[in-house]
Amino acid sequence: MSELDLRLPAWVERVPAWLDGQPTTRLIFIFRAIGCAYARRLDGGCTMCGFAEMSTKGERVPPEDLVAQLDSVLDAPGALDGVGEVDLYNSGSFFADQEIPPEVRAHVLGRLGRSTVRRVLVEARPEHVKAHDLAAARAALGDRELEVGIGLESADDHVREVLIHKGFGRADFERAARVLGEAGARLLAYLIIKPPGLSEAEAVEDAVASARYVFEVAARTRVRARAAYQPTFVARGALVEREFQAGRYQPPSLWSVVAIVRRAHASGELTVGLSDEGLEPHRLPSGCAACTPRLRAALAEYNRTRELGALEGLACACAGAGACE
Ligand code: SF4
Ligand SMILES: [Zn+2]
Repeated sequence: MSELDLRLPAWVERVPAWLDGQPTTRLIFIFRAIGCAYARRLDGGCTMCGFAEMSTKGERVPPEDLVAQLDSVLDAPGALDGVGEVDLYNSGSFFADQEIPPEVRAHVLGRLGRSTVRRVLVEARPEHVKAHDLAAARAALGDRELEVGIGLESADDHVREVLIHKGFGRADFERAARVLGEAGARLLAYLIIKPPGLSEAEAVEDAVASARYVFEVAARTRVRARAAYQPTFVARGALVEREFQAGRYQPPSLWSVVAIVRRAHASGELTVGLSDEGLEPHRLPSGCAACTPRLRAALAEYNRTRELGALEGLACACAGAGACE
């Protein structure tokens, strides 16, 4: 048995955010849950995944404890004051019954459906995106937006299936996008930047092509969509750490990230993940010491404004040294 208190969440954080051009607060809530069923399969698990740390690593969590985890946060006075968006993560798929049972989903979404929150984000692998569950979720949430994040990672089959071992194909993603569109939910497609196995230049081409693919699918399947770029960082304990320590892997240059956003901007709504997870700078996407703070600030401003102007006028002697500018 685990010594974790299963009636408390794995993580809660409030961060400043923007929703429809307005400043708001995003409440990030991570259930202490059993974790991703795909990760626990003998032949499963994505090479980049570090989510197991937040889960019970396969120990079942009773539904009433999952409910208690959320209630422990929402019962506090003013818990949702100023919160426009709630992100519910469970280190796996929110719509997988064996990970988050239907009665738990009904309870947490029902509570949020009676709140002033405007958007709820959850995550799911495509095989867990089903019309029936989405209809129940949408009914519980009333007129609040439901956004479902799917880790497509790349439009390229070799990158997704061989380098990342994602375990699903484009047809699965496209089916899920269609089901989301039909249910009136939104799609958030996560796209990786530079998994191990791609050069810097290949990573740029892959990321640009992947965003174009996401928005082409979104138009075809009539789903409102965003794409969230996740530049790779070297987390402790992740498989990528071994490659990094052996000198075979470097995180992407922030100049490459800027180049990707410039080229993909016209495809659709993009955001760039800038989390540093408390890691040392050399494990993170960066430029040189002089330009890294400016590049991070410019990308944060792009996330806020969605305007390419945020990326204008950037220059540094290091741009071009291993980058794609
Ligand atoms: S699907 Fe998501 S949670 Fe599951 S192993 Fe892959 S990255 Fe991890
Ligand atoms: Zn520089």
